[in-house]
Amino acid sequence: MKIYLDNAATTPMDQEVIDAIIPIMQNNFGNPSSVHSFGRSSRAIIEKARKKVAAYINAAPSEIVFTGGGTEADNLVIRGAVDDLGVTHIITSKIEHHAVIDTSEIVGAKHNIKVSFVSFDEKGYVDIASLERLLEENKDKKTLVSLMHANNEISNKLPLKRVIDICKSYGVYFHSDTVQTMCHYKFDVRELGIDFLTCSAHKFHGPKGIGFLYINENIQLKPIITGGAQERNVRAGTENIMGIVGLTKAMEVAYRDLDAHQTHIQGLKNYMIEQLEEIIPDVRFNGDPKGDSLYTVLNVQFPNSDMDEMLLYNFDIEGIAVSGGSACSSGSNIGSHVLKNIGCDMTKPALRFSFSKYNTKEELDYTLNVIKELFAVKV
Ligand code: PLP
Repeated sequence: MKIYLDNAATTPMDQEVIDAIIPIMQNNFGNPSSVHSFGRSSRAIIEKARKKVAAYINAAPSEIVFTGGGTEADNLVIRGAVDDLGVTHIITSKIEHHAVIDTSEIVGAKHNIKVSFVSFDEKGYVDIASLERLLEENKDKKTLVSLMHANNEISNKLPLKRVIDICKSYGVYFHSDTVQTMCHYKFDVRELGIDFLTCSAHKFHGPKGIGFLYINENIQLKPIITGGAQERNVRAGTENIMGIVGLTKAMEVAYRDLDAHQTHIQGLKNYMIEQLEEIIPDVRFNGDPKGDSLYTVLNVQFPNSDMDEMLLYNFDIEGIAVSGGSACSSGSNIGSHVLKNIGCDMTKPALRFSFSKYNTKEELDYTLNVIKELFAVKV
C-alpha cells in the first residue's frame, strides 16, 4: 500500500488539469510574442487564463504576473520592494518559507537594510503587538511587511485582514505568502486591500514550476529576470503556456469544489487528531491544530522512543509518505527552523502529515495502525 500524506510539499496533478494541458502541448506551440496566427492563438489562451485567475481573487488581469512558482514570486516582491519601491526596512518572521527569510536577509545584507522579526505567542501565532511595536519604532522608514497566511509546517494562520489594516494604518507595503492557502480559502484582494500575494500551482493539484504574483495596480515593480518584455515587463522569458493553463484549470477545479474538499480534508485532520490522542496518550501537536489552523496540515510531536532518528524512514518503509518538516528537511525535526523558532520541544521527534482531497479515512486507518505497531501501543 502506498499512501501520500505530504501534500504540503506538493500534490498530485488532477486528471482534469492533465486533460486541459494535453491539447495545449499538441496544438499550441506558437510563441505568444509572435504576431502570426500561431502566436496570437497562444497569446489569447494566456490572456484568457490571466482573466480567469484574476477573477478568482477579485483582481484586475493586469495585476497578475505569472512566475516560475512561489519562490520566484516571493523573490520578486522582496527584491522589487527594495530595488524599485525604495523600501529600507523589512519586517518578516523567522517561520516564513526560506524564499522569504533568505531573500530578506540577502537583500538586507547587500543593501544595508534592517530586517526585523516579529515574535510569537506560546501557541506559535504571530504576536500582533510585536508587529505594531516594530512598525511604531520604525515609523521613519519605508517598510515592507511580509508574513505568510498559513505556515507550511505547523499550519497556524495569520489574521490576514487585521494585519493588513494595521499595516495600512502605518502606510507600509504588505505581502503575504499564500502558497499554502491559495485555492484552500477564498481571497478578495479588493476587500483585503493587500499589496502582494504569492501563489504556486503545485500546492493545489496543478503543475510544478508555475505560479503567480498579485501586484496591486498602484505598484510598479521592475523584473528580476530580464531579457524580454513579457508579463508587462515584470517577468522576462517566453511564457509557460502549459503551466499557465494547468494552473488556471487547477484553480477552477479547486474553487468549484472548495466547500466539499474543505469539509472532507478538515474531517480527515480531526479524525487523525482524535485517533492519535486515543492511541498515544502523550502525543502532542506543534502549532495550534484545533485553533485557527490550515486544515490540510497537522504537525505531530511523538514521544521519545528508540527510533527517534528513524521515524520518518519507518513510515517510508511502510509505504507512507510524510515529512519531517518542510520538504527540504530530512529524517526528523532537527533543522526545522519553524519548530525551533516557535519554541517547540526539539528533543521530541515531529512529523508533518498533510492531506488532500484524494486521501481517505481508510488510508488514515492504515497509517494509524502502522503508528500503533511502531509505538507498540495496546488498544
Ligand atoms: N512558500 C511556501 C509557504 C511554501 O510552502 C513553498 C513550497 O514549499 C514555497 C513558498 C515555494 O513555492 P515553489 O515550490 O512553487 O517555489
